[in-house]
Amino acid sequence: MNSLRRLDIKYVKGIGPRRAELLTKHLDIRTAYDLVHHFPTSYLDRSTIYTVRELEGDMPSVQLKGRFVSFNVLGEGARTRLVALFSDGTGTIEVVWFRGIKHMRENLRTATDYILFGKPTTFNGRWQMSHPEIDTVEQAVGQQGMRGVYPLSEGLRNQNIGSRQLHQWITAFLDSHGAFAETLPASVIESCRLMPLDRAIREIHRPSTPAQLQKARERLKFEELFYIQTDMLMRSRRRKSQSESFRFARVGQWFNSFYATCLPFDLTGAQKRVIKEIRADVNTGRQMNRLVQGDVGSGKTLVALMAMLLALDNGFQACMMAPTEILAGQHFETIRGLVAPIGINVRLLTGSTSAKQRRIIHEELRDGTLHILVGTHAVLEDPVQFHNLGLAVIDEQHRFGVAQRARLWSKGQLPPHILVMTATPIPRTLAMTVYGDLDVSVIDELPPGRKPVTTLLRYDEQRESVYRGIGRQLAAGRQVYIVYPLIDENEKLDLRSLNEGYDTICDIFSNYRVAFVHGRLKPAEKDHQMQLFASGEARILVATTVIEVGVNVPNATTMVIENAERFGLSQLHQLRGRVGRGAAQSYCILMSKRKIAADTRERLTLMTQTTDGFVIAEADMRMRGPGDIEGTMQSGIPFDLHIANPATDGDIIALARQTAEKLLDNDPDLALPVNAAFRTALRDASARTADWSRIS
Ligand code: ADP
Ligand code: MG
Repeated sequence: MNSLRRLDIKYVKGIGPRRAELLTKHLDIRTAYDLVHHFPTSYLDRSTIYTVRELEGDMPSVQLKGRFVSFNVLGEGARTRLVALFSDGTGTIEVVWFRGIKHMRENLRTATDYILFGKPTTFNGRWQMSHPEIDTVEQAVGQQGMRGVYPLSEGLRNQNIGSRQLHQWITAFLDSHGAFAETLPASVIESCRLMPLDRAIREIHRPSTPAQLQKARERLKFEELFYIQTDMLMRSRRRKSQSESFRFARVGQWFNSFYATCLPFDLTGAQKRVIKEIRADVNTGRQMNRLVQGDVGSGKTLVALMAMLLALDNGFQACMMAPTEILAGQHFETIRGLVAPIGINVRLLTGSTSAKQRRIIHEELRDGTLHILVGTHAVLEDPVQFHNLGLAVIDEQHRFGVAQRARLWSKGQLPPHILVMTATPIPRTLAMTVYGDLDVSVIDELPPGRKPVTTLLRYDEQRESVYRGIGRQLAAGRQVYIVYPLIDENEKLDLRSLNEGYDTICDIFSNYRVAFVHGRLKPAEKDHQMQLFASGEARILVATTVIEVGVNVPNATTMVIENAERFGLSQLHQLRGRVGRGAAQSYCILMSKRKIAADTRERLTLMTQTTDGFVIAEADMRMRGPGDIEGTMQSGIPFDLHIANPATDGDIIALARQTAEKLLDNDPDLALPVNAAFRTALRDASARTADWSRIS
């Protein structure tokens, strides 16, 4: 495989420099390795020859064998077409060309047997096939069996490079190439019953049977996921054994006095457990890299705060970063409110922090009098210099790139401990891939007294009664969110309905103050509006999804989500998490058109049935398919994935993980000769994506 990575595709027979350039430009195929790893996404079956009599409506592409009976050029100008009659003895079919007419007319004969391959359609009661592939019987011999259909780009098609052409290049290359050297250790092939690499590569491009194809796909998926798991495990084992960091040996005054005097409630069992896990981590002298997963409202902020107090107790500073100004602001207020009584110095740094305030922050950070800095990206961008940063907490980490995170600790001397918090529940196997080198803690318990949010699906014509419900909540002293979608493609329209919605609400509930927040507002105005709502001065908040993550107003007991059909499950779950944060019964009303697609209805109905974030995340993944997940997750994965899909290949991930653990238990550095080929392959695979910067 190694030499394949060095073989430029322009030297691959049939390709040449000009097409090589096109393949690189459109498909990022640069080397022979890339070429043979450009896998088909589906297959054409050329194992059977059908007869015209056997044709039925809606067949995929099929082969027919017979002769042309006549050729006629019909129409004129742009509508010129060549129509040939093709007969196989059982019936006739019209074959139509709109392009390349001259070429076809000159090259096709009537007295010769041909094999056509194309999708049959009916037109005016007659069978038709347009632009089929055409081979003479001799040419067709090499085409039999299943053939891959390759992902392509429009640009390549315009250059007349199609799936068939790619298939030809790839298979010609495979034919000219000796056996591909095995990359995985023999022990792994054996214990997981994998198809050898050479077979798998050949099968995937030119399957012999569907069952063998299946085995080939499994093998190739396993390979990709096994690289990831091995790499992540080696990394985290190395980190655990090497990466030196500060030792927080004492639980001191800040932590204890906070616990004794400031804590407004008892910690939940899950919170206590996670704090214990964190305490153990930070007391080893090695760097902590821990992810805390906890559903919305599970009380992650408090856990983070207690971890920060540990840092302070050991003479270090701590910082906490959130993805938006609003969130950072809320964290700041919450934390300051909680620790002010014991004299901890907390400050907020965001894009809108004034120059003067910034100077103070810089100074206090440098001289060590600032204990906790809360902020947004600004913390990374600013020339912030900590005196001694001991712990960095990152809230909702998926919105921060890994590289961005890395900037945080190049500033200290030793890397600080890292605590990442997310409310995005991720199924276990997916977490292994995406967060594979983090240790994971789960807060799987909500604070006591929470009643699950009651979720209702309502249609537009029921709006009156929804408004009456809102009125009752307001009369009882509660607060209400009304959320509108604001999605780029439709921005103008959405902005209008948002504004109209706001006006309507102001009209109907004219006794109450209504706050109004959307992405177009200046940060200061947004903050002001949020503040109005958070303080309870405004009883209603009309907003777009800017309130999605983390905002905490326990007195808000009702959320109305307009055009709920336009939101994804996970997003609805995140939004709904804004209510149900106090002891009172809360409601989430999903407003929708009555006419919606079946899968949309399924989505909304599921929301009315469960509040379990993990159930919702799994359903979301299943329903949305891999696409979206890949978009959000792939950025965190250090290897190119050609065939494996972390969202759906959970079983293979689990197997890869187990197998990698076993392999590394026996040979931690892959130093044994039997693992040498694998070690090289792993290194080559990760070298390709060297720009990926690691968390530690
Ligand atoms: P999230 O995990 O979504 O970030 P928060 O940290 O914002 O959740 O906490 C949600 C709410 O629950 C806050 O109002 C917080 O004060 C409260 N809370 C956190 N822990 C507890 C607890 N152990 N008992 C009662 N309320 C709690
Ligand atoms: Mg939070």
